[in-house]
Amino acid sequence: MNQPFDKKPIVILGPMESESAWLIDQLGDRQEKAFGAYTFYEGLIDGYPVVICRCYIGVVNSAAATTLAIAQYDPLCVIIQGTSGAHDPDLHQGDIILGENLVELGSFYTLHRDEGQGSAIFDWTQPGAEINVNNNIERVNTLHSDNRILNAAESVSYTDGIVRRGTIGAADIWNRELDMIAHLSRTLGTDCEEMEGFGVAQVCAQLDVPCADIRVISNSEWYFQEEFNEKYGEQCQMFVLQVIRRLIAEQTLM
Ligand code: SAH
Repeated sequence: MNQPFDKKPIVILGPMESESAWLIDQLGDRQEKAFGAYTFYEGLIDGYPVVICRCYIGVVNSAAATTLAIAQYDPLCVIIQGTSGAHDPDLHQGDIILGENLVELGSFYTLHRDEGQGSAIFDWTQPGAEINVNNNIERVNTLHSDNRILNAAESVSYTDGIVRRGTIGAADIWNRELDMIAHLSRTLGTDCEEMEGFGVAQVCAQLDVPCADIRVISNSEWYFQEEFNEKYGEQCQMFVLQVIRRLIAEQTLM
């Protein structure tokens, strides 16, 4: 380990440039360290060490960046943040979901069907990922953000939408079929979907590091005018900066 700080840093991940560049700009005394394609920006916010990585889209990229960050920095926590698509029709662009529950949308068991019987996707079950829970190796499809981080996020004031706890689904899939969106919401309780959260939570669970997923709604298939818009990525980063400041000021997790 090559720990550049005397305190455990807060690690923030954002998949796209529009979900990470604004926060990287907020770092004081900034240094960068690259591991292949993954670049970690080390710096200070309110005098406290923070490391930010644009981790690229998808579960594997975000899990790789999380693993590298934990091995390198022994962080206080890892926060994945960015945009997401609404499953709950009551959510709109600009609303923020604090991922109390993080669910895996990308693993499936299908039932046997004979040749010529086609596919019945709504009968598939979703077992989740294999995780070692207190020395029991289990399939787990729901993990959780650290409650102390969510409490800090709930104390931030935000005027561009509602902020509430919810269930965030993740897999390398962009669902646009409303019947599928409603099915996922009914069977797994999802409020929104993205492509990283569960992967980060899975690595953090295996390596025993607190994590949180904080997402802005950037698109909703329920409303044709609410198409994906990158500008919400910056809005989420601004919210997350306030969360970081709370964690530092209140010495949460320290
Ligand atoms: N034009 C881009 C859009 C990718 S957006 C492209 O295809 O290259 C994918 C990113 O946005 C992922 O990091 C994911 O976490 C997030 N995201 C936002 N809305 C999403 C949705 N409805 N479904 C899945 N991922 C979504």
